[in-house]
Amino acid sequence: MAELYDAIVVGAGPAGSYFAYRLAKLGHRVIVFERQPKVGDSVCCTGIVGKECFDRFPIAFNAILAEASSARLFSPSGKLLNLHKETVQAYIVDRAAFDNALAQRAQEAGADYLLSAKVDDIAIVDGCVRARVEHDGTMIKFDSKVAAICNGLGGPLPKALGLGKIGDSVAGAQAEVSANGVDEVEVYFGQSIAPGFFAWLVPSSAGKALVGLLTRRNPGSYLKKLLTMLHAQGKIASDEVEFTYGGIPLKPLRKTYGERLVVIGDAAGHVKPTTGGGIYYGLLCADMAADTIHEALCSDDLSAKRLARYEQRWKEILARELQIGYWGRKLYENLSDSQIERIFDLILSNNIHEELLQSPDFSFDWHGSFILRALKHKALGKTVRSMTKSTPLP
Ligand SMILES: Cc1cc2nc3c(=O)[nH]c(=O)nc-3n(C[C@H](O)[C@H](O)[C@H](O)COP(=O)(O)OP(=O)(O)OC[C@H]3O[C@@H](n4cnc5c(N)ncnc54)[C@H](O)[C@@H]3O)c2cc1C
Repeated sequence: MAELYDAIVVGAGPAGSYFAYRLAKLGHRVIVFERQPKVGDSVCCTGIVGKECFDRFPIAFNAILAEASSARLFSPSGKLLNLHKETVQAYIVDRAAFDNALAQRAQEAGADYLLSAKVDDIAIVDGCVRARVEHDGTMIKFDSKVAAICNGLGGPLPKALGLGKIGDSVAGAQAEVSANGVDEVEVYFGQSIAPGFFAWLVPSSAGKALVGLLTRRNPGSYLKKLLTMLHAQGKIASDEVEFTYGGIPLKPLRKTYGERLVVIGDAAGHVKPTTGGGIYYGLLCADMAADTIHEALCSDDLSAKRLARYEQRWKEILARELQIGYWGRKLYENLSDSQIERIFDLILSNNIHEELLQSPDFSFDWHGSFILRALKHKALGKTVRSMTKSTPLP
């Protein structure tokens, strides 16, 4: 006999657990299914979360490992651009601890969690959502009024439910290293380092750092090369380390709601296409989804028409950001190393970074206005626009 919940949640990442917390707190019966045996298992993430996210969602402070107010950017040939702000811009969190803190909060609010529970199928039958869940070698059915799909990038559920699939994504690889003496976030650009994207060295806990990169193909082989380079430079103690892998969506899902359904977080493409950061946007969308589902449960109307309000809400805040960010990403992806060098030279010789960092459009989490401001900059804008012939402005 299937058990009836108000909401089932697929995936105990930040989006799933925050959605579960909000809905349970509002008095609804919620169950979260997580396919891993432990929350936060096998996560591949650097854990950089903007200060605005912690201001907006005062949660999981215990997961913070370090603060970041500056970054060192390296051009393909090794020129250094120092970005510095007087105040904290972001925190570096232990992702497993962050996810666990959110899950604990959801459980304290009354949500049930079932681990080692992989949702294989979701169907809308007889006026309810029926989830088929593989748990401990057996198949169990759970019924609910509504389902939130928060299972990260990939997986067949959104497409099987007629919501489409993520149209563009990028692959990432990362490793934890011993790195005494690295006290600032470092970012590396160049076709031979991370083609089309970038790589990073991020100090985390004492003497440790995360080295990773994003690229369209072979992230593992580029990471191996990067580690060899950093080891040769004396920045890391060893290049013999284990890798983790993960993908990042660059475009939103065609449709993020349906009858009795919402899709949230990476599964919906709620990620900054510029940097690949998805935690904050996932939490923002989980918040909006919880508001919409609460209203719909209270009025006993879980039709697609009613749940469309969720997509309207997140699009009002994020759609333009995602569009301009994706445009900026594609522009950068098409630059050659010599074009990136020219941009570095121009910025360094005119101190353009200082000017842009002081502008009101600078934000760790919102890049749309900043990109447009940079394009309007007298010297920088002209140079960048001359490199963008095949990429129409947004
Ligand atoms: C290399 C790398 C570095 C990153 N660094 C950052 C960063 O510094 N800052 C930042 O903001 N973002 C970063 N991101 C992105 C960030 O990790 C994601 O945006 C974030 O994890 C999305 O949260 P989510 O809850 O939507 O999905 P996820 O965190 O992916 O959680 C989905 C959960 O669903 C579970 N699941 C999947 N399928 C099923 C199923 N069928 N049944 C049950 N459970 C299922 C998974 O096991 C997982 O626990 C990074 C990503 C990568 C790859």
